[in-house]
Amino acid sequence: MEQRKKHIAILGSTGSIGRQALEVIDQHPDHFCIEVLTANNNADLLIQQALTFRPNAVVIANEDLYIKVNEVLDPEDIKVYAGYAALNSVVEMADIDMVLTAMVGFSGLQPTIQAINAGKEIALANKETLVVAGEYITRLAKEKGVNIFPVDSEHSAIFQCIVGEFQNKIEKIILTASGGPFRGKSRDELVNVNKKQALNHPNWNMGNKITIDSATLMNKGLEVIEAHWLFGVDYKQIEVVVHPQSIIHSMVEFSDGSIKAQMGVPDMRIPIQFALSFPNRLKSDFPRYSFASNPVFSFEQPDMDTFRNLAYAYEALKRGGNLPCVVNAANEIAVDAFLNDKISFLQISDIIEACMTKVSFIKSPGINDYFDTDEETRVKAKELIR
Ligand code: MG
Repeated sequence: MEQRKKHIAILGSTGSIGRQALEVIDQHPDHFCIEVLTANNNADLLIQQALTFRPNAVVIANEDLYIKVNEVLDPEDIKVYAGYAALNSVVEMADIDMVLTAMVGFSGLQPTIQAINAGKEIALANKETLVVAGEYITRLAKEKGVNIFPVDSEHSAIFQCIVGEFQNKIEKIILTASGGPFRGKSRDELVNVNKKQALNHPNWNMGNKITIDSATLMNKGLEVIEAHWLFGVDYKQIEVVVHPQSIIHSMVEFSDGSIKAQMGVPDMRIPIQFALSFPNRLKSDFPRYSFASNPVFSFEQPDMDTFRNLAYAYEALKRGGNLPCVVNAANEIAVDAFLNDKISFLQISDIIEACMTKVSFIKSPGINDYFDTDEETRVKAKELIR
């Protein structure tokens, strides 16, 4: 019997992950089809993607763009919805098998909750969802019998390392970090760096927010928290190692001392495809890595005194409660301010640090507390920037 195609909804289809996911899906029309595409503001690309992939429905979050999108897609028999409420509820549509959460930031939380509640499998690219509300999300997914497949390259690597290990205990997760464009720089050297320099990532091609997070090492901090929730390991068992070549995407050490690594060219299409196709590996024509032409792998300790965000993320995970939510919200506001030339690179860490002490700590937050904490932190962070 021919296998049913997996029906996919992509939240954030016009972003970096969304576009690369569509490249993967385009290569495997026998395995996947697109049910829903959503975008915030990029109406032109959303229209173009919809005309190519023929989804059942699209959502444009910016309601001002509804008429523009609907004018083109309505005659094509593609439903068009607008606004954030539609973005959150469209994931519940009956024909969807899997939701790829590829939007950026806290906004991924609500639709992920609704998708899990509706019993949809999750391909999780929105790490902020687990950073903010990891306990809630992982418990809900367990209750609903929903799998969360990591798309983040490090977490995909860890997932690939533990496939087949069944009950074997993880002793340690070793998250690799490229170190970003400012690896090896001192605090003094970072005082005047601008966004153009910060956006110039040596290895990975990603969206603006995550690229700044890579430059500050916040991205690795968020990934430590993400790994804690995805794989159920304590913060003491998660080690970050800088590996500037970005060929080893992360490693797992087991209780016998054996270490498994997952490797390859730094190409996000590989982890995206694995999340979509698990447990199968589909043939790809992506570039292959050559050990012969790139013979050197190196490793070093992350500099947490200069790149303080990584230390703050560890502290937030250690203290728990709503603190990871505070760190995430403060970081989102600070990165946005840096990208808009309102603060300097080093001030990103100052704002996060200040919010960690100023926002009220909640030891056992409920789901509404996360939304309140996010709001309170954004207000505080904006006050600090003004
Ligand atoms: Mg990553």
